Amino acid sequence: MSARFTSYTDVRPEVAAFESYEPGLSIAEIASRYGLSRVIKMASNENPLGVSPRVRQVIADKAVDAFRYPQSGNPRLVKALAEHCGVDAKRICVGNGSDEIIDLLFRIRCVPGVHNAVAFRPCFGIYPTQARMAGVELRQTPLNPDFSFDFDGLLELVDENTTLAFVTTPDNPSGRIASVDELEKLARALPPSCLLVVDEAYTEFAGPEHSLLSRLEELPNVALLRTFSKVYALAGLRIGYGILPPALADYMWRVRLPFSLNILAEEAALAALADAEFRDETVSLVRRGRAFLTEGLREAGCEVLPSMSNFLMFRPGAGTVDARALHGELLKKGIIIRSLKAYQLPEWLRVSMGTDEENELFLKYTKEILGA
Ligand SMILES: *Cc1c(COP(=O)(O)O)cnc(C)c1O
Repeated sequence: MSARFTSYTDVRPEVAAFESYEPGLSIAEIASRYGLSRVIKMASNENPLGVSPRVRQVIADKAVDAFRYPQSGNPRLVKALAEHCGVDAKRICVGNGSDEIIDLLFRIRCVPGVHNAVAFRPCFGIYPTQARMAGVELRQTPLNPDFSFDFDGLLELVDENTTLAFVTTPDNPSGRIASVDELEKLARALPPSCLLVVDEAYTEFAGPEHSLLSRLEELPNVALLRTFSKVYALAGLRIGYGILPPALADYMWRVRLPFSLNILAEEAALAALADAEFRDETVSLVRRGRAFLTEGLREAGCEVLPSMSNFLMFRPGAGTVDARALHGELLKKGIIIRSLKAYQLPEWLRVSMGTDEENELFLKYTKEILGA
């Protein structure tokens, strides 16, 4: 008889250690459970404006081409991104979300069981899962108590076998930004064999002066990660990219699954990149909402971290209801925000910026629930 997989002992131990994914309630399920006609999702840092009309039109127009394979190497998108970022096209690799780029970084840069990677705690959930899947140790050091970055603590984890160091800025879930001078100092302090990976998923909400992009030529061990999931409003199409040392980008293209960026995603990304008007509108909406909700939540007695992103991390003041209760009560009103239990921060919550109207409703209900 041929070998069969009969139990978990037949998979790699790294795989057996994964828990199965438990999806949360869908919008439809929440609506029916609480008898709501409208549910507002402010939980996943998505773009509150939805897909731009121009991009929607392009997706519809290009549906006719879906029977074809995408062009290998996605040369049109690579060229457009290189122009947009002002970098050599040899630095760009695009993927099925920046998640794919992160996964490939572990598999390209780290020999399983030999090399390690470092990051802060808490961090974006994909870093630890893909490290485990790749058989790579991820060492983590806590953020400072105010959620700012302890770069000395990060450096202490680094040894001669550290080949990746992750920093997210603006950070998720705090919204805090790292100074570019500090990042440059970190890059120079790391051994040359360690790549500093700066995850800039939210960089457009902070502004270009907070990116290492303009210093890449002087910093050979730095990679930037970007995504179309946030400011470009295309989370569901899965498009991300790395701005990498050219030799690393070359290897990434060699090993990446050949068609991981599908043909409609590529067309949508090209259209979104050209739609500066939509991007500007998103950024001004988010910045307006951020100022409005930071002030409003503080008025309501909450502690709010200073955010440069499209979300806020906050917790109710002492003596009112706790985070868990506020989260549950908002759900009954049809507003979904993010509990940070999964980040081991059960007393904190994260709310993504909505439209002006959604922000006002969220604040109105929050004030009612907190008795503010
Ligand atoms: C949302 C987010 C991303 C984007 O991931 P995609 O796979 O491109 O959707 C990357 N990093 C962080 C920290 C994020 O919060």
